[in-house]
Amino acid sequence: MKKESRKVIIAGNWKMNKTPSETKVAVAETAKLTSGKCGCEVVLCVPFVDIAAATEAAKGTNVKIGAQNVHFKASGAYTGEISAAMLCECGVEYVIVGHSERRQYFGETDETVNLRTRAALDAGLKVILCLGEVLEQRQAGITEEIVSMQTKLDLAGIPAEQMKNVVIAYEPVWAIGTGLTATPEQAEEVCAMIRKVVAGLYTPEIAEALTIQYGGSMNDGNAAELLAKLDVDGGLIGGASLVPEKFAKIVDAAQA
Ligand code: PEP
Repeated sequence: MKKESRKVIIAGNWKMNKTPSETKVAVAETAKLTSGKCGCEVVLCVPFVDIAAATEAAKGTNVKIGAQNVHFKASGAYTGEISAAMLCECGVEYVIVGHSERRQYFGETDETVNLRTRAALDAGLKVILCLGEVLEQRQAGITEEIVSMQTKLDLAGIPAEQMKNVVIAYEPVWAIGTGLTATPEQAEEVCAMIRKVVAGLYTPEIAEALTIQYGGSMNDGNAAELLAKLDVDGGLIGGASLVPEKFAKIVDAAQA
């Protein structure tokens, strides 16, 4: 399979931004600006409380709605958590799992990331699985070991038939929200390495079909050269996804 036959996904991660009324406006605006851009799938991952407004505003448009986390238990005494079934019933199609901010501030480990990924896939959600090295690891020259280990641990026990619903977002932690972007060559090197690890875990065909995004200060100025790389099949975008005009320009860059 060639890059052109893989699904390109441009996904926004709004993090803890926008109220339901702001969501209504931003989703409608994003849908308007990206309508007819069929060269990629357009996804907005919104805070839990914005899901109803987002799914309503996205109805009949090309914009798909995602959540930013999911719990691994089906139900029970887990105050503050949201199950995969709850997300499905709310019309959510995608969910981000293992974002570095969840790992850094909320104690997520590869074990809980794996459990959340499995629960989401079992419920029929598509998972955007985030992984990537921190600055000290890159400086120590162990990016490959770290990212390869995360890939293996986070995908443990996930059957081959569910891999069609997995997207991996390579997000070097040092590039998230910092304005520092990996060079296209750095992004390509790690995305290609992740694909190789997935080929070893599953099959070369599954690895070739896998959408691997880059995330980390992607914007309308640098998206085109990152997305041009052979193993970069889209982007997970934080800051720039909050402004529909900027996000739409990244979607434009993915049309080539
Ligand atoms: C992110 O939140 O996944 C992200 C990549 O953020 P930013 O684009 O702001 O670096």
